Amino acid sequence: MEIKFTRAATLKEKPDSSTLVFGKAMTDHMFIVDYDAGQGWHDPRIIPYGPLQIDPAAKVLHYGEEIFEGLKAYRIADGSIQLFRPRDNIDRMNKSADRLCLPRIPEELALAGITELVKTEQDWVPSEEGTSLYIRPFMIGLDAALGVHSSHHVQYIVVVCPVGAYYPEGLDPVKIYVEEKDVRAVKGGMGMAKTGGNYAASLRAGDLAEKAGYSQVLWLDGLHRKYIEEVGSMNVMFKVAGKILTPDLNGSVLDGITRRSCIQLLKDWGYEVEERRISAEELFEAAENGTLEEAWGTGTAAVVSPIGELAMGDKKVTVSNNQIGEITQKLYDELTGIQWGRIADPHGWIMKL
Ligand SMILES: *Cc1c(COP(=O)(O)O)cnc(C)c1O
Repeated sequence: MEIKFTRAATLKEKPDSSTLVFGKAMTDHMFIVDYDAGQGWHDPRIIPYGPLQIDPAAKVLHYGEEIFEGLKAYRIADGSIQLFRPRDNIDRMNKSADRLCLPRIPEELALAGITELVKTEQDWVPSEEGTSLYIRPFMIGLDAALGVHSSHHVQYIVVVCPVGAYYPEGLDPVKIYVEEKDVRAVKGGMGMAKTGGNYAASLRAGDLAEKAGYSQVLWLDGLHRKYIEEVGSMNVMFKVAGKILTPDLNGSVLDGITRRSCIQLLKDWGYEVEERRISAEELFEAAENGTLEEAWGTGTAAVVSPIGELAMGDKKVTVSNNQIGEITQKLYDELTGIQWGRIADPHGWIMKL
């Protein structure tokens, strides 16, 4: 399918890379492709970035019929641009689409939307250490009728924005508390889908955590309120007595691509990785008997985020002396090394533009 291109009449001034706020500096263009039942995907186009015209009765506005992805384009030392595992993002988007009764999008079309937009906006890909172009593909159900049904008219849209180094002063351990009241997702719900609704469910706990001086919450499972699922909007891993533990993909945990990549690297390095149920109780016991060696979150935005303090009720424990653990740092160095083309990519994760 040929992508039609309409150039923006005026181009924006590019922001200073040292003062970028995550997700704010949107570029000059966006990619859109329509889907209509009976017709399939049609009219892919790159057009000037700007407001969407949506019917006020559109399903997405009332029933949250929305899914999204997040990945990055990296400018490497020779000036060229590359992506990290983009096909994994598209594959996951199609799994999310299945859950929300949105249409699957052909991989090559979804990928072309990403690569052609990044090529159009290549001058927006920053080159300073740690910066990248964040890519946000999303899909929305647009049928203009208030009945609760899946949509026949859908759009897949891609927008991009330059983002700064997540940790300009280096990897700083964060304080986390275990959320015992709200849950993010339940088995049978949408936890395995990357959809706005899960984020809406997470806002209240996130706000309260921030007010209490914590940066994120550790989510427990919705059924037993006992087993650890994720941290904020990241997957979570622990090093306990030399072994790596991470919650299994039980249906309410998002199948993170950073999680997947970390597991592969850890196995390459000879670590035993257990994907299984981990109770908060087990974790606090490990902290108290000194076997909880490291804890960290994983996700595209931060890559890895070390956890320095964990709180649950009136219990509080420090992890690896509130310092970055050795494995956390090694994972960060290895993944960012591959992403910015500084080290070899033995698993074929990089796609050059
Ligand atoms: C996107 C996301 C992650 C991390 O996934 P990556 O593919 O590693 O970026 C983890 N948890 C939730 C809830 C997410 O939405």
